[in-house]
Amino acid sequence: MAEGNTTTTETVITGPEARLLASVPTGLLINGQWRDASDGGTFDVHDPSTGEAIATLASATSQDAVAALDAADAAQASWAHTAPRERAEILRRAFDLVTDRAEDFALLMTLEMGKPLAEARGEVIYGAEFLRWFSEETVRDYGRYLTTPEGKNKILVQHKPVGPCLLITPWNFPLAMATRKVAPAIAAGCTMVLKPAKLTPLTSQLFARTMLDAGLPPGVLNVVSSSSAAGISGPLLADPRLRKVSFTGSTPVGKRLIADAAQNVLRTSMELGGNAPFIVFEDADLDKAVEGAMAAKMRNMGEACTAANRFLVQESVAQEFTAKFAAAMGALTTGRGTEPDTQVGPLIDARARDDVHALVRAAVAAGATAVTGGTPVDSPGYFYPPTVLANVPNDAEILRQEIFGPVAPVTTFATEEDAIRLANASEYGLASYLYSRDFNRLLRVAEQIEFGMVGFNAGVISNAAAPFGGVKQSGLGREGGTEGIAEYTTTQYIGIADPYTGREGQKS
Ligand code: NAD
Repeated sequence: MAEGNTTTTETVITGPEARLLASVPTGLLINGQWRDASDGGTFDVHDPSTGEAIATLASATSQDAVAALDAADAAQASWAHTAPRERAEILRRAFDLVTDRAEDFALLMTLEMGKPLAEARGEVIYGAEFLRWFSEETVRDYGRYLTTPEGKNKILVQHKPVGPCLLITPWNFPLAMATRKVAPAIAAGCTMVLKPAKLTPLTSQLFARTMLDAGLPPGVLNVVSSSSAAGISGPLLADPRLRKVSFTGSTPVGKRLIADAAQNVLRTSMELGGNAPFIVFEDADLDKAVEGAMAAKMRNMGEACTAANRFLVQESVAQEFTAKFAAAMGALTTGRGTEPDTQVGPLIDARARDDVHALVRAAVAAGATAVTGGTPVDSPGYFYPPTVLANVPNDAEILRQEIFGPVAPVTTFATEEDAIRLANASEYGLASYLYSRDFNRLLRVAEQIEFGMVGFNAGVISNAAAPFGGVKQSGLGREGGTEGIAEYTTTQYIGIADPYTGREGQKS
């Protein structure tokens, strides 16, 4: 299967969409070459707004995964020794190219994932920023030199690339989840095998070609899209040449990968599920809180690990907040992401839509009321209406599970202490959102809640310059910020004898 011959089987897609799809590489990227799968296998990618197949890609086998690691391993030593400036400039060129190709990336994400074009454009800006941020970080990975507390001997600390990495990404942010891993790995001098989600691999295919266009040498980034995730991760995690796995996805799969990674004591970075509380105190600006709630809930149709999953509202303002929030949610336009007025696209597949509706049904059966939405849309795509549930009992399943859909359960609390207790009553600890006009209260609550990220009167907090990540079962490690590159380096300490006497620990 040569580059650029995507087949658009049984689809009504025509015009610029068809031309874009036909330009996306369909093979596996191994050692700088686009290849067929070793067994000739393929899999289809679907448009979730219609359910139609829009592309057919090579499906990597275990043998292909090992070939990709062969290439990464062979490239590792020379790549580690490239000048930081050279790696930085490749990343900077990649930022420019992704920005130049923003419309292609945005349309491709909308076609394979369903998000509205305006949101897809926002993801291109967010995703590209990891390339620019880490191009700047590449030349600032500082070590240190100091004298031991006892006196004369010296301590030298330097960072080295951890080695070949396996990067596994989810379907919800097809570009940003890839750049958030690939950019710091390049900055640190690691080679890698990227396995995108089978539901949305096209963006990674285009991104990989863009990285080659930016001058990335063969073997540094290898891409093995596949219909069998475990068929890729299994042999690679067992291979002693692999030194790290970085995963973004669900907590159950993350746990499985941590267990498998233990066999070779691999470094792991895990960005897993969330159950974000969105806490509105009675002294909050309620209009701003509703605006923030819309952003924190509806970005990506609620299919985000940072999505507000539980709305905890102080009793005295619960009714007013819920009414305003439901009015804003009910006014949103749902449709295919390519339509100019669409604000809410489809969910990723039929199972996702059915799982969301099952949670809504159970909550209503337990006593909740659907103030808006709550009834599935009858259409060939996987649409679900924006829904606000009031009077949700505190023990409802919908407050415990990641909803991953456009549904906002609202529950109430009496005191600040109650809000903190309810927020912490989850095994997850990724994002959280606090709304209040009292800065001391915001700080007080932030100190007591167990979350890796907290928004103060802000519904969107992801940023390439900030350390993204969770505590508890939401994961290990941080992506972005100055912390992001550290996930891809090891620390080497060199102990140096007293340079004046050359004798260890002696006074001169
Ligand atoms: P998922 O766990 O089903 O899949 C994620 C990736 O893992 C995909 O590439 C998939 O093919 C792969 N995978 C699945 N089973 C595997 C296995 N046995 N071995 C190896 N790889 C396997 O998750 P998803 O449905 O794609 O994504 C949604 C989840 O991701 C949600 O839980 C969400 O919260 C989480 N997420 C977390 C973050 C974060 O930064 N914390 C960001 C985005 C999404």
